[in-house]
Amino acid sequence: MFEKSTKIIFIDGKWKEVDDGKGVAVYNPATLEPITEVADGGSRVTEEAIQAASKAFPGWSELTGRERSRILYKAYELMSEDAERLGEILTTEQGKPLKEGIGEVKGAANFLLWYSEEASRGYGEWIPSSIKSKRMLVIPQPVGVVGAITPWNFPSSMITRKIGPALAAGCTVVLKPAPETPLSAIEIVKIFERAGMPEGVINLVTGDAQEIGNAMLKSKEVRLLTFTGSTAVGKYLMQESAEHVKKLSLELGGHAPSVVFEDADIDKATSLVLASKFRNNGQTCICTNRLYVHESIADQFTAMLTEKVSQLKIGSGFEEGVELGPLINEQASEKVHSHLRDAVGKGAQVVLGGAEWEGNLEGYFYKPTVLTDISDDMLIMNEETFDPIIPVQTFSDETEVLQKANDTDYGLAAYIFTENTNRAIRASEKLEYGIVGVNDVFPAVAEAPFGGIKQSGNGKEGGHYGMEEFLEMKFVSIGIG
Ligand code: NAP
Repeated sequence: MFEKSTKIIFIDGKWKEVDDGKGVAVYNPATLEPITEVADGGSRVTEEAIQAASKAFPGWSELTGRERSRILYKAYELMSEDAERLGEILTTEQGKPLKEGIGEVKGAANFLLWYSEEASRGYGEWIPSSIKSKRMLVIPQPVGVVGAITPWNFPSSMITRKIGPALAAGCTVVLKPAPETPLSAIEIVKIFERAGMPEGVINLVTGDAQEIGNAMLKSKEVRLLTFTGSTAVGKYLMQESAEHVKKLSLELGGHAPSVVFEDADIDKATSLVLASKFRNNGQTCICTNRLYVHESIADQFTAMLTEKVSQLKIGSGFEEGVELGPLINEQASEKVHSHLRDAVGKGAQVVLGGAEWEGNLEGYFYKPTVLTDISDDMLIMNEETFDPIIPVQTFSDETEVLQKANDTDYGLAAYIFTENTNRAIRASEKLEYGIVGVNDVFPAVAEAPFGGIKQSGNGKEGGHYGMEEFLEMKFVSIGIG
């Protein structure tokens, strides 16, 4: 399926070989076998890409929304038609089960569909003036050249969720995908090429994060950086953006609490918590990280959840029925061990799992793990785990559990499970998170805003809010008479 070497970058509408002897190897995380090598681009090629995006900006931004919409819609169609092949590429480089890989590609295409529709809806405003001799207009205009940096856990949808609205708004883009998953990014750019995207509107550079990131930061022409990744890197980009006062849209880490109240539908809640925790093997920014269960149902809930977790099938994402693929790399494997050791050392009980999977594959597979007897000082209750471990803690009081749920610097997603509407509304309003799921653990959709508060970031992706990130509101004050 893959050539031995794919050392190409896309600048100004052309694929260019970057073959200076270096390259970045891409591995299949299920087998640890190399798949191919991609280009090791650095500052020079990033500057070229920024120049190309800058040159393309006037032409692209002056098209009508309808004209931009047609290209986005064509890209949506091409991506949807090719979802199976793209899903296979995604699973090969990222490891998630093929069904999830294909599902992600279809979801990623949906962002293109949504923003093909939004492209025509960049409304401004006519402000009724308090002064008779004045007229006041607010005109939305594209920000300019956008630098987009994406992570490996959703190699396809994290890209379209950024470049869909950026392109719809009239911005041009330089994209840098994660080194673990560049192949999905290359495919997405090829789709835009086939959809008729004008030269220079999208540019792709793979390679050294520091060099590419710094070239984006140092450039006055890059007016906005849109980044999805860890809070640590987000903070760095924020500090370094000060020099040119760049706009930032940051989708950072999370530490999602799930709260199961005594009036929850237990069967439904266990299935939803299972899906929330173990989708993508726990490597999702909105995965349940901490689970609080009311003490009156804790034994029944934990037993039912443990039974469901024990049935999860581990293996290669290409194997029929597999629900848990490998972790992305050795670092992730070390983190799962350190969180487990720390919890057990502080008194946690391992109800299920708690060890590496002893299967016939070389990748970093870990048994899905359920822990009880959890205390608040454990690492797992404070640091983003990004692994298939679920700590179950009990509670007795609504006010107390909501305080605990909020007691973190993160503020991305939180979940509550209850059949009581009053409680659902009350708790949703009190939770200090950008997203609250009420009996729902799949809140990432094209039509709604997704994004964190506190140290989980700023800015929204999805819905009309997602496009607003890429627009400046210019005020035109007109004296008449
Ligand atoms: P990461 O280490 O922060 O990396 C994210 C991207 O930033 C990668 O492309 C990375 O490239 C690049 N990068 C790293 N240092 C950089 C620098 N100095 N300048 C410019 N770019 C730099 O995060 P990750 O491990 O890939 O992804 C997992 C994290 O993403 C988790 O914290 C997760 O919660 C978060 N996430 C958040 C959301 C959301 O919507 N809020 C969604 C998905 C994931 P290199 O790998 O080459 O360093």
